[in-house]
Amino acid sequence: METALYKEPAPIADKENPFESMMQRFDVAAELLELERGVYEYLKTPVKQVTVSIPIQMDNGEIEVFEGYRVIHNDALGPSKGGIRYAPDITLDEMKALAAWMTWKCSIANIPFGGAKGGVKCDPNKLTQVELEKITRRFTANMLDIFGPDKDIPAPDMNTNEQVMAWIMDTYSMHVRRTETAVVTGKPLIIGGSLGRREATGRGVMVVTFAAMAKLGLNPKQTTCAVQGFGNVGSVSAKLLSEQGLKVVAISDVSGGYYNKRGIDVNQAIEWVQKHRVLEGSGIGDPISNEELLELDIDVLVPAAKEDQITGKNASKIKAKIIVEGANGPTASKADPILDSKGILVVPDILANSGGVTVSYFEWVQDRQGYFWTLDRVNHRLERMMHEAFNNVFQTGEKYKVSMRLGAYILAIDKVAKTLKVRGIYA
Ligand code: GLU
Repeated sequence: METALYKEPAPIADKENPFESMMQRFDVAAELLELERGVYEYLKTPVKQVTVSIPIQMDNGEIEVFEGYRVIHNDALGPSKGGIRYAPDITLDEMKALAAWMTWKCSIANIPFGGAKGGVKCDPNKLTQVELEKITRRFTANMLDIFGPDKDIPAPDMNTNEQVMAWIMDTYSMHVRRTETAVVTGKPLIIGGSLGRREATGRGVMVVTFAAMAKLGLNPKQTTCAVQGFGNVGSVSAKLLSEQGLKVVAISDVSGGYYNKRGIDVNQAIEWVQKHRVLEGSGIGDPISNEELLELDIDVLVPAAKEDQITGKNASKIKAKIIVEGANGPTASKADPILDSKGILVVPDILANSGGVTVSYFEWVQDRQGYFWTLDRVNHRLERMMHEAFNNVFQTGEKYKVSMRLGAYILAIDKVAKTLKVRGIYA
């Protein structure tokens, strides 16, 4: 799973509409770039928004109807790319924001993809494996005209995993009457997945954390860190950061936060979660709340859970010197000016968590070539591309005298806008 098992979200102080949150940053960047009105309108509007109904015969024999979405925000740079999430509270508006973030993410990561996102409104905790498979297959069948290795390529996201990707790949392949591995990424290795894909987002988080620490002259041996969320992104980030010498003093998941001033044994926490699903009962640290974790006196904070965790209400209480956004949209736009005024270096989501989609790109390339890379090659190329992306974003921020977040938006929007201009408008 890309994040911890789904449970009701923690109470959110000032929940923003995620699309508004994205647009607020987009508007500032568009103004700084002096984007022309037509291009602004073009980039603001998703190229496709699809809603499908997914009727399923449940294990008890009754028919339930679920709703599925896929939003393609933009495909100027190439086929659209982005995850599929399963959660009971997803909305089309959320998909629109997440799809746009994918467009900006792929642009910054310098990979030839546009942005998309999709999902099914369901609670995977209440579904059996058979029901989950039926939902995935019917969702895929309904999206046959949308998905395709040259059109739109799904990947794991919140509450979806390698198995779900395998079902998507199989269903698509059955319909097109050939095995088409490149239609999804984040697949099991045995059917064309890539080495290093599962750890890629966390590895990318680790790389940019070190790049940010170097900017502030922080020595890893004296740097403390807290990670919110212990799913795929949070757990791998915590593991790699502690392996590289940082002291991870707090971690959290849906069961709450855990603090240990001598440092959490991250491997022990991972082993516990593999057996017990949640951190609760592991004894790895003293219980704290998710809110308290965010406000700890630490050097590096990695929010890797979900949207809207750092808000206008709690931003002033944050003490970290660096925030590295492992999740998509963990900071509401109202928090941006507060964090900036405190001099906190925020490595924005569209850069910080782009390691996942970057290795998805490697997986797609390998599938299409039928030639598979070693783990070393994957990790080495990932690290090089994350460094390049970090430097490009940092330099853009400096050039425009704005935060790294706005630097990231400016860089991303500028490239897509230039692509649109050179391609021209088909009429
Ligand atoms: N769901 C991940 C993201 O939000 C990965 C997307 C992909 O690999 O296409 O970046």
